[in-house]
Amino acid sequence: MQVGVLALQGAFREHSKMIEKNGEKAVEIRLPVELDRVSALVIPGGESTTISKLMVEYAFPERIKEFAASGRPVFGTCAGMIVLAGNQDGRRQDLLGLIDIDVKRNAYGRQVASREVDLEIETLGGEPFRAVFIRAPIIEKLGPGVIPLARYLDKVVMARQENIIVTAFHPELTGDPRIHRYFLNMAGEWEKNPFAFRRPQAHSA
Ligand code: GLN
Repeated sequence: MQVGVLALQGAFREHSKMIEKNGEKAVEIRLPVELDRVSALVIPGGESTTISKLMVEYAFPERIKEFAASGRPVFGTCAGMIVLAGNQDGRRQDLLGLIDIDVKRNAYGRQVASREVDLEIETLGGEPFRAVFIRAPIIEKLGPGVIPLARYLDKVVMARQENIIVTAFHPELTGDPRIHRYFLNMAGEWEKNPFAFRRPQAHSA
């Protein structure tokens, strides 16, 4: 399976390594046309303003919306979660708006600005997941179609809506492949059945 990692800015190499560690082929995506080659897409952490600006410059937003509307899974971590969210810092966001959550940037404050914690993530089973937070965004609100998958300090830090998943933390940095495996399994389901997560057009706008 070929899995794309948006390689405009941020921690894309670490995601590629994690995908390869799970035995799949990672493809760094720098142009929208390269999305045609992949079954799923990771939008990495980094600096969300820079990533958004570059996405617009390279005409990615419409293509990523189409990509998601086709049912292919998209995974956003940290800054990647910010660009996928429907609302940022109290404002409606049209850039992608592919998951019905409200996010607030850099919202954990100084003490929690960068820290490692163990999260219980039921869907993964087994051991707690070691999660790295780096100037992480907070998910302030989840729409009715969004399923919470993990919590930290009373906030949801991992969530899923159909074929879109997000984490406020960086699962590519701790060597535990399970969250990437979970995502790659979604991509596998899509490959078997492209209608597995197909979303009504209205939701993908
Ligand atoms: N604070 C960053 C932003 O707002 C996100 C941090 C990260 O991706 N590690 O873009």
